[in-house]
Amino acid sequence: MSPEQVVPGIVRLAALSRVALFGEPTNCYVVAAELGGLVVDPGSDGADFIAAVEEVVAELGGLAGIVVTHGHRDHWEGVARLWERHGGWVATHPALVGRLAGIPASAHRRVREGHVLAGWRVLDVPGHTRDHIALWRPADGVMLVGDVVAGEGTTVISPPDGEMAAYLATLRRLRDLTPRLLLPGHGPPVHRPRDALEALIRHRLTREQAVLDALDERPRAVEELVARVYADVPAERWWLAERSLLAHLLKLEAEGRAVRLKGGWARPPADGAQA
Ligand SMILES: [Zn+2]
Repeated sequence: MSPEQVVPGIVRLAALSRVALFGEPTNCYVVAAELGGLVVDPGSDGADFIAAVEEVVAELGGLAGIVVTHGHRDHWEGVARLWERHGGWVATHPALVGRLAGIPASAHRRVREGHVLAGWRVLDVPGHTRDHIALWRPADGVMLVGDVVAGEGTTVISPPDGEMAAYLATLRRLRDLTPRLLLPGHGPPVHRPRDALEALIRHRLTREQAVLDALDERPRAVEELVARVYADVPAERWWLAERSLLAHLLKLEAEGRAVRLKGGWARPPADGAQA
């Protein structure tokens, strides 16, 4: 995919990280800002990718700074190379300070909910990871959401960094902000955000109900449950689905709707039942 202007002043580039799942590229966005270009999620340190980013940045008058939405490597693999060549700051959630190879703590700009970055409001959006931020521009309703939303398919929620209850709360919150365009970390732009966010919430609640339906008194291992709950997902992806399944189970456990026993997960005994 060659660089593509998704809205005026925002260019999308495809980054193929060495850790890309299923060979799927990560979206990197170069955003025009007051003092140059913001590079959001440079996910590859490949020479061709870095050169393509630099070409777009040069057209915008230089690099103002780099933003990393969250700590997964396919969103920051190219940060060190860009920073070495251009300097400036690297804006991340405070939890990522010291975790991006090659970036000293002094280069980090720690940003969280309430901060404003080159005209973009920073949102804390935990769920996919705890260290996840999004960028929100109320003036035109554009939102850079990282892996909170996938342009196609769904996002893996992998405990303990991924948390299903937090993820659902984040989806509802983004829906209530009524964005007009979501720019996700993978896949195409999402042009009907409200419908897409509603569909994602429904999808997770439907899956949660399927988890509840699969539980009974007998403890069942996650590997056994995944075949029942994710029957619609190709078997070669069950190892990933097991992560989201575990996230659902942990949420249900916290709500008293599932219990962890020796040998697996079960429905809690009904009130008054003999233990
Ligand atoms: Zn991710």
